[in-house]
Amino acid sequence: MARLVMKFGGTSVANLDRIRNVAAHVKREVDEGHEVAVVVSAMSGKTNELVAWCKDADTLHDMREYDAVVASGELVTAGLLAIALQKEGIAARSWQGWQIPILTDDAHGSARIMDIDGTALSEGFSKHKQVAVIAGFQGIHAESGRVTTLGRGGSDTSAVAIAAAIKADRCDIYTDVDGVYTTDPRIVPKARRLERVAFEEMLEMASLGAKVLQVRSVELAMVHKVKTFVRSSFDDPADPKPGTLICDEEDILEQQVVTGIAYSKDEAQITLRRVADKPGVAAAIFVPLADANINVDMIIQVVSDDAKTTDLTFTVPAAEYDRARTILEKAKNEIGFADLHGANGVVKVSAIGIGMRSHAGVAAKAFKALADKGINIRAITTSEIKFSVLIDAEYTELAVRTLHTLYGLDKP
Ligand code: ASP
Ligand code: MG
Repeated sequence: MARLVMKFGGTSVANLDRIRNVAAHVKREVDEGHEVAVVVSAMSGKTNELVAWCKDADTLHDMREYDAVVASGELVTAGLLAIALQKEGIAARSWQGWQIPILTDDAHGSARIMDIDGTALSEGFSKHKQVAVIAGFQGIHAESGRVTTLGRGGSDTSAVAIAAAIKADRCDIYTDVDGVYTTDPRIVPKARRLERVAFEEMLEMASLGAKVLQVRSVELAMVHKVKTFVRSSFDDPADPKPGTLICDEEDILEQQVVTGIAYSKDEAQITLRRVADKPGVAAAIFVPLADANINVDMIIQVVSDDAKTTDLTFTVPAAEYDRARTILEKAKNEIGFADLHGANGVVKVSAIGIGMRSHAGVAAKAFKALADKGINIRAITTSEIKFSVLIDAEYTELAVRTLHTLYGLDKP
């Protein structure tokens, strides 16, 4: 007997037929004799609708009430799944976040889980032989007694945190794809499902735009060493495929240098020309952007011809491009730059792999391959296990395909 957490995302619970299908997946595990806690998302599209209603009611709404509204989507699916399970003759009950309780801080709209008391859930297993159906994405701030939500995509995090709290043997994240791929299969048809991905690689992939898992859920899985699978609820419930295991790097036998290629489309580039090369200038540029909650990503500084000034290039999310430009133009005199150039709609393509730690020249190979295809690189950043290049959007597919082939990911 094992203890399992099974998480089902929005497309897996999109309507009653899909919820019955989830019940069949759960029944399979119960019939095997396992103790099961299920975590559900809201029906797909529901949370967007609820968010839109809050904005419509008042653009500057009270975030505590926003949480009260958007947490409701998961309450519906948790209750409906419990009913569907009972209909199959399986003992089950629904749990709202506060009933467990899942304790969070009070950052409404993007709260962090502080603690989960697993006692009630464990009692449900041992005393009542009961499946726990838990509303994902939500918790409670103990001091104020208010309902909180964990940020978009947060039910992944609920699932992993619950798995850690009840010491589950496994956390299965069911979604509409059957695992983590070497890259986006819509761009590269030769993309392959990975059998295993290291936590750190998954963390990079999730941060770099692969939308399978919420970043925070991967952090939690890594810290608590939760054995996490990404798999499909669209598989036959009687004969499902195992999906992709996210695990410690020591558990990966055949290590590739590069495991995956990710891309993120919504980037913008800003270049400040001839900035005075003196202490405090970087702060003068980036502090106002940080104060405005604008996330700066790649930063590159080069010395200009005259050696007294410098050129600074960096990226911001495309949605923040206009705001960032306005802030910088306003601070032009304080910063002291000659002019501002920018490009919206540029793309960041990244290669990720823990093998980069032990291999030299991995990125250099890519620069050559991209140059051979006539792709101009606007900026580069590297870290221990990934490198990213910023390119023009029209070359996204070509660049992703080129790197996928270059690092031997096309071949099985
Ligand atoms: N329903 C929430 C959302 O759409 C949480 C989740 O699906 O993970 O963001
Ligand atoms: Mg999701």
